[in-house]
Amino acid sequence: MSSDPDFLPFTRPAIDEATIAEVAAVLRSGWITTGPKCRDFEAALSQRFGGRPVRLASSATAALELALRIAGVGPGDEVITTPLSWVATANVILSVGATAVFVDVDPATRNIDLERVAQAVTPRTRAIVPVDLAGLPVDRDRLYEMARRHGLRVIEDAAQSFGANWRGREVGASGDLVAFSFHANKNLTTAEGGCLVMNSEAEARCFEKLRLQGVTRHADGGMDVDLLGGKANLTDVAAAIGLGQLRHIEAFTARRRELARRYFERWDRALGCALPPADFEQSNWHMFQPLLPLERIALSRGAFIEAMRAQGIGVGVHYPAMHLFTLYRERGYAPGDMPAAEHIGARTVTLPLFPLMRDEDVDRVCAAVTRVLRPVLT
Ligand SMILES: *Cc1c(COP(=O)(O)O)cnc(C)c1O
Repeated sequence: MSSDPDFLPFTRPAIDEATIAEVAAVLRSGWITTGPKCRDFEAALSQRFGGRPVRLASSATAALELALRIAGVGPGDEVITTPLSWVATANVILSVGATAVFVDVDPATRNIDLERVAQAVTPRTRAIVPVDLAGLPVDRDRLYEMARRHGLRVIEDAAQSFGANWRGREVGASGDLVAFSFHANKNLTTAEGGCLVMNSEAEARCFEKLRLQGVTRHADGGMDVDLLGGKANLTDVAAAIGLGQLRHIEAFTARRRELARRYFERWDRALGCALPPADFEQSNWHMFQPLLPLERIALSRGAFIEAMRAQGIGVGVHYPAMHLFTLYRERGYAPGDMPAAEHIGARTVTLPLFPLMRDEDVDRVCAAVTRVLRPVLT
């Protein structure tokens, strides 16, 4: 991060003064960990998702891991997922003792290729973990048709798609188990945090136990522990931030879509970068990610990022294809296994896109990209 006030980071949270005042009120209240603010936030989220049960967690990673446990996934089971995501998506599969089975992405959407998912199903496959990369939703109709046909649970890693919709249906309002992240960089933040949307009160009770040491409290003040839980509860300090964010989420998403549209209008097409799908209805535009035309430029991605930084613009990389990480190579994956994910993972760059950006900031980024790439085009 730069201390230069003109530096434009690739993302920045928007926290208003009312939210800061509410956080201060929680800090002064004498009750700062899980309590009334968490219950209010869970109720507000549940209302948003058509009354489905929602429970908060300390992160989406924790919510995903507990979701796998609720779905009964464990040692000996295979879980199919995408190699193009934050590594948490696959790590949680290993954490519950199951095998992560990667299938390549669709080069157009950059999301898991559902055709290939069907081909990867074996008698040991228990679940699929799709990811809405950059907030572009996976085709929910085909996803659930395929899951039904093969008898699979679906644990949606919707960490990036809060506020997105599939054919007008809000992500989270339907489906099986749906996990969201409230990490600082996500569209709705609690600094750190996450939640799981579930199918029944029985699943929600199980989630409550798993997130706090397996404890069930009795009305007489006693308690019991009948399964091994961990420690993954959210604080009221964080929930107060989330409630403040929720008031603005519709405006945040609308503004992100506007800015994304402007990128498409102002982008220099002669550079030869592949742009993401131009979906301004369903995607929540969590990120704007062109692919660098590495074959046509005499410049590495690292050098591009450096050159942009020198112009006062932050650039991220989300993500290298994760099956090539040592942990997954040790489990049998090798270069060439997932050509589409590898192609995208090697070329993707995340440019600034967040609700507080001005229109002129988009123009500035587009001009800087042109300045950096034009001279090195071969
Ligand atoms: C951010 C993210 C996660 C993890 O969320 P945390 O709240 O940081 O644990 C998982 N999957 C995807 C796709 C993400 O973007």
